Amino acid sequence: MDWIKLSELLYPGLTETPDDLERRYPPRKLPEGAAVTRLAPSPTGFIHIGNLYIAFVGERVARDSGGIYYLRIEDTDEKRAVEGGAEQIVRGLDDYGIRFDECADRDGGYGPYNQRARAAIYHVYAKDMVRRGLAYPCFCSEDDLSAMRAAQETEKANFGYHGKWAKCRHLPLETLTPLLQTGAPFVLRLHVPQLSTVNCQLSIVLTDPAKGRIEMPPNDIDHVLLKSDGIPTYHFAHAVDDHLMRTTHVVRGDEWIATYPLHHMLFDLLGFERPKYIHVAPLMKQDGGGKRKLSKRKDPECALSWYAAQGYPADAVREYLFTLMNSDFEDWRRANPSSGIEAFPFSPKKMNAAGALFDLQKLDDVSKNAVSRMTAEAVCAQLTEWAERFDPTFHALLTRDPAYTIKTLSIGRGGQKPRKDIARWGEAKAYLSFFFDELFVPAPPSDPDFCKAYAEIYDPALPRDEWFASVKALGEARGYCPDMKQYKADSTGWKGSVADASASLRAAVTGRESSPDLWEVMQILGKERVTGRLNGG
Ligand code: GLU
Repeated sequence: MDWIKLSELLYPGLTETPDDLERRYPPRKLPEGAAVTRLAPSPTGFIHIGNLYIAFVGERVARDSGGIYYLRIEDTDEKRAVEGGAEQIVRGLDDYGIRFDECADRDGGYGPYNQRARAAIYHVYAKDMVRRGLAYPCFCSEDDLSAMRAAQETEKANFGYHGKWAKCRHLPLETLTPLLQTGAPFVLRLHVPQLSTVNCQLSIVLTDPAKGRIEMPPNDIDHVLLKSDGIPTYHFAHAVDDHLMRTTHVVRGDEWIATYPLHHMLFDLLGFERPKYIHVAPLMKQDGGGKRKLSKRKDPECALSWYAAQGYPADAVREYLFTLMNSDFEDWRRANPSSGIEAFPFSPKKMNAAGALFDLQKLDDVSKNAVSRMTAEAVCAQLTEWAERFDPTFHALLTRDPAYTIKTLSIGRGGQKPRKDIARWGEAKAYLSFFFDELFVPAPPSDPDFCKAYAEIYDPALPRDEWFASVKALGEARGYCPDMKQYKADSTGWKGSVADASASLRAAVTGRESSPDLWEVMQILGKERVTGRLNGG
């Protein structure tokens, strides 16, 4: 076979060579040990929580080593691409603090950062591979391939385009020439070298810090490199792009491990140094007695947009994902409650190789802690921003008197044991409802007369201790034992204890059985509203 002739037939007029590309994209000038990592999503518009998880891993590996973190949009599959999908991804990740050093609109000299715009680059390598007898055009139709698969099934042969099944692998130039000249559609396939010549290992080894050592048989399939539209498959684009963009660490989902032998072979045949790989196991979910992968179809919490709609603070989601990335994160957080998350010594080696268990209850706990550590001003700002998007009526109430809103959110903040009432902004309306007349739902107090009597003497000027003394005193006069111990020892003759008296006041003022500190609540509501509610108004 005259491979050079074939390469000219396939890519006439293409004169650029791999050496030219090496010069155009020289190795990056980075200090020793600096990692270059990337996120390579398809622009489907949907961001899976697992994408964010992988993004944090890649980002940490780059940042911790003083390297580069870049975004490459893998838009080779037109069917999956969505208008504006790439922008949505950048915005979605930005909400969680993921920033890229390089991306489509921030070229660091290694672009284009969208694969479709790199078609000419892939063709340079495609032509070079054909010249070297490492790739060939295949004219098999979908029907031909289905027939091949059916026959392989009958013969119990391995699936795929290989060996005697690879019909187009041996087509002579005389057959190929008229087909190409008449514009017959073709894909470009890898021409797997004879195992006895190049790349003759019997097994290849993947050493992955997250997964350990994995031994696999080498690839023997003539996989598609370029589709019939000249756009590469994931595999070919991965090798070309990660080489030219000088990626040192490929951080990706572990579903790609199965095709690693192909990637290994492609890097070798293309003469590229292989990057390191960190394969991230999927997030798992408890389902009945077993565990399964979080599923886009079954679990609404799969979509990053769900967290925004629920109102989980971005920091809390990030904090939680870090607990899943490295199980010693929680101990570190306890020892370093106010450190920035970047200070955590993340290590891919400490990742759960089988997949960390994603648990919304745990996320709520982490989020409650995170919210409890925020200032009232910060809570107010984030809550207001959330409500503007997701609950305009509530937004109107929150912004009517911002100073008042901040006061309502200040209760129980600061100090050693801050209150942990809110995990997500979507819960704030129910929690704060009694502070807003429009939302307040009265509950009948068990002793309306006591409430009315208390309304007569309520003095907002009293400090907390004196206020409580006044509740006790009025309660005692009305049959409520002021001393809990005494009441517990012997309740005869009493209507209840001071706790019951307070519960009546609490029900009248907040409509609830439990609430934050009642004295503080009354201070914020003001005398008029407190007495109005105590009087049943
Ligand atoms: N586009 C691929 C995906 O979304 C990227 C995998 C990779 O990071 O290499 O799964």
